[in-house]
Order: sequence, then structure tokens, then C-alpha cells
Amino acid sequence: MSMPCVNCQCCFNIKVTINAFEAVRLKRALRIEFAQFVKPIKRRRKRSHPAVRLGTGSYDLDLRKSRRYKGGCTFLIGFADGRTRCGVYADRPDVCAVYPMHLRHNAVQMREDARCKSREWDLAGLDRAWFGERLAAFHADWDRFDGMVEAWNASEPVRAGRGTADGFYRFIEAAVDAAAAHPDLPVAELCAPLLG
Ligand code: SF4
Ligand code: SF4
Repeated sequence: MSMPCVNCQCCFNIKVTINAFEAVRLKRALRIEFAQFVKPIKRRRKRSHPAVRLGTGSYDLDLRKSRRYKGGCTFLIGFADGRTRCGVYADRPDVCAVYPMHLRHNAVQMREDARCKSREWDLAGLDRAWFGERLAAFHADWDRFDGMVEAWNASEPVRAGRGTADGFYRFIEAAVDAAAAHPDLPVAELCAPLLG
């Protein structure tokens, strides 16, 4: 598979919104707290996924920005020659792993808004089976995460404006565990006992 991602910049100046499955995987792999790498960012434009209600606002869960590299992702690490790369490559969010591909009419294609120039990718040699499987799993996780967010948003304290980021983090960690233990149970049923 051709990978032209050398000296490139797609981990800079980009909003990386993640779901519960990606967040929990990173937290556990790195043994850090959610707040160290996730930041709830106010939703500013319409998106297809429900926003997370915290207080009286609507938020996305985004990766934090680097303190060292202006506009860069918090997980960037650097080399002496100034180059940077992902420091969590094995556990990176699926949204990063599948970039710059997406599924269109069930076919793996390069995104129209991809920052890479198409000619840099050997699309004929692309491992479409790998991307297809990973993209399908990614979309399935987002569907389940949407259900979790809807359950959270519908819970009484959250509707009353008392939802907090820490409360949401505790909820999604428990919900991801419940989903792993009961993969066939609908998300709403998984979430109900977790939200009282
Ligand atoms: S913009 Fe494209 S070529 Fe550049 S690092 Fe990102 S995926 Fe790779
Ligand atoms: S997690 Fe890694 S691949 Fe994804 S934006 Fe951050 S540095 Fe880039």
C-alpha cells in the first residue's frame, strides 16, 4: 500500500472529533485521564451526529491541541530535525487511521476534502479491503456512540442543564464496557441502567 504521509501536515489545524470507543481505547492504552487529551468544544455548525449536552450547551469531543506544536494535535511527537509524527500510532483514533478515505456508495474512495493531493496516493495499489473493514467498523461505532449521546441527552439531570464533562466521561466508559459485554443489546437498553 502506498503511504505518502511523510513530512505532511494533516495533524495540524484540523478538528479531530472522536467517539467513545476511540476515547476509551486511548485512555486505557496510554493510562491517562480523558481530560488530558479530550476537550469538549462547542458545536458551531450542523453535523449529522447528535452533539453532547453539557450544562446548557452542545459539544463535540475533540482531541486537545499540542502545547508544543502550534495548531498540532496533542499526540504529535517530534524529531531533532523538526519532523513530527503521531505518538499514538497503534492506538490512534479510527478517524485518523482511515483518513483520507471514506465510503461512498459502499466503495472506498478518497475524500473530496482530503488535504493530500490524489496523485500522492497509489490508489490502484490501495488495500481497499483493509480500509473497507476499518471504515465499516468506524461507522458502526459512531452509530452506537450516537445512541449513547442521545441516551445521555435525554436523561433527567442532563435535560435540566446539570450534565458535566466528568459525568459524561464516566458514562461513556461504562457504556463502552457494557457494549463489549452485551454486543447484541440495543444501545438504549445498555445505557438505561447507567443513567439511573
Ligand atoms: S494529508 Fe494525506 S498524505 Fe498528508 S499526512 Fe495526511 S493522509 Fe498523509
Ligand atoms: S492522533 Fe495521531 S494521527 Fe490523529 S491527529 Fe493526532 S497525531 Fe495525528
